Amino acid sequence: MADDCIFCRIVAGELPAERVQEDEHTIAFMDLNPWTRGHALVIPRRHSKNLYEVPEEDLRHTASAAKHLAERMRDRLGCDGINLLNACEPAAWQTVFHFHIHVIPRYADDPLRLPVQPEQASREELGAVATELRG
Ligand code: 5GP
Ligand code: ZN
Repeated sequence: MADDCIFCRIVAGELPAERVQEDEHTIAFMDLNPWTRGHALVIPRRHSKNLYEVPEEDLRHTASAAKHLAERMRDRLGCDGINLLNACEPAAWQTVFHFHIHVIPRYADDPLRLPVQPEQASREELGAVATELRG
């Protein structure tokens, strides 16, 4: 447990949270500032900072719990779809530094819109970045 981590304190029961699902390795609770009705966070009980540092075992358990929660949202809340979101580092909007996956129920008439308008890249650009990645 990291003493200065609010999510570790939620796991320990030191801070209140509306828990909706738990197992040996993970807990899920409602996000304090929901993007849509039912927006929740799934976290491993064990502290790690983010996607770069989370042990693969915790990543697997958390992804699996996110799937179960998505199905629960479909069945109990009647949502029309789900977005999974993970933010890794401040440049990617991470604000709480205990690995978590947002599980965001989506409704056909909800107001969320993509924050970007993707534009098709040229074959040269795609080839160049792919070459860099394959390294
Ligand atoms: P991030 O920005 O790191 O991807 O996500 C952090 C999320 O945690 C945010 O959506 C924020 O609303 C939520 N959050 C921050 N503090 C608390 C808290 O004390 N309790 C709960 N339930 N959610 C929190
Ligand atoms: Zn933590």
